[in-house]
Amino acid sequence: MNDNDQTRMPLGIYIHIPFCVRKCDYCDFFSEPAAKEVWKAYVQALIKEIYLNQDVKGRYLVKTVFFGGGTPSILPGQAIAEITAALRDCFDFEKENMEISLEANPGTVTEEKLALWKEARVNRLSFGLQSADNQELALLGRIHTFEQFLESWELADQAGYGNRNIDLMSALPGQTAESWLRTLRTAAALEPEHLSVYSLIIEEGTPFYQRFAGPGSPDFSLLPDEEEERKIYKLTCRELKKYGYRRYEISNYARLGYACRHNCGYWEGVWYLGFGAGAASYISERIKGTETGEVPVRRCNIRDTPAYIRRMDNGFSPVEERERLTVEEQMEEFMFLGLRMEKGISFSAFYQRFGFSFSQVYGRVTEKLMGQGLLAKTKEGIRLTDYGIDVSNYVFEAYLLS
Ligand code: SF4
Repeated sequence: MNDNDQTRMPLGIYIHIPFCVRKCDYCDFFSEPAAKEVWKAYVQALIKEIYLNQDVKGRYLVKTVFFGGGTPSILPGQAIAEITAALRDCFDFEKENMEISLEANPGTVTEEKLALWKEARVNRLSFGLQSADNQELALLGRIHTFEQFLESWELADQAGYGNRNIDLMSALPGQTAESWLRTLRTAAALEPEHLSVYSLIIEEGTPFYQRFAGPGSPDFSLLPDEEEERKIYKLTCRELKKYGYRRYEISNYARLGYACRHNCGYWEGVWYLGFGAGAASYISERIKGTETGEVPVRRCNIRDTPAYIRRMDNGFSPVEERERLTVEEQMEEFMFLGLRMEKGISFSAFYQRFGFSFSQVYGRVTEKLMGQGLLAKTKEGIRLTDYGIDVSNYVFEAYLLS
């Protein structure tokens, strides 16, 4: 088989590295600090899991790999090289345009690591900056200052990485449209190929939850209100446009040709396999006892790093949850994920995927939402309007079938 083999389905691979130097005060991702021996055992467990899945090789062609976390850049560079070597051994990678992304946090990036990642063909780096203001970084509990971020950024520049993202976070406590603009302009002036801009969400179980969760919390009044948040969002789109970035998804902006292919895969319903503790997969599984029967399955690995390592050491499956998706659930997902993208969803893609015309399933609700100014027509189908983006959760709910 070769890359042009149309019979193979595209696949994204996600590798979860659940380690961080320290937990940030707002973070509820599955990540924690751990000893170096644990990192080592984890990488070996990951490699075992990759080999356990090599039987799907003939059916899929890997288009993207994404090392996320946590902080993948915390690991020695050699570990990333070992993991990608195992992936290449077990799967076929697309020969051209293969995208391998790695999330890197300032303070954990060295010249040596950058060189080893390059050897492992990592060709896209995603830097977690969050803010260019040192006071805000300290408030968030980040391990780095803006100056330390710049050092990592320049090292990546010297190492020749030409596809870099900067993650920023808006709607921080005490932030105003003016202070946000300073961060945004500082980041854009570095000319990254891509910017991800998410609003702070106060998650239960985090130190931020104690401080900012609701009107009764001690520092709640420091959070920008909804109106200010909306202003910040609009400002972000306007300002980044001036710097040559196009918003291609609700929270993601890129220069032409630099949209993150891996994340686009999630929004476009491309199959993906996740490896590591807490990693999720969305995959088409063969129905046992049939030649051609397939069913879309979502599965999730155990969210406990020591337990994940033990399971892999003892030859048990790391999968903790497995769910077959009904056609209705797949349609709903098609809508929620597709409408996040600027280009929206295509009626013909809906028909090709489900064998039902779009209007038969969603005609009435779409007409209503268009009448409310929340959706606009495109050549191919529909997309959210600016007003629709403001109230996107309302739109997504309207597309629930059950
Ligand atoms: S670096 Fe990222 S994953 Fe780690 S604690 Fe901070 S926000 Fe969470």
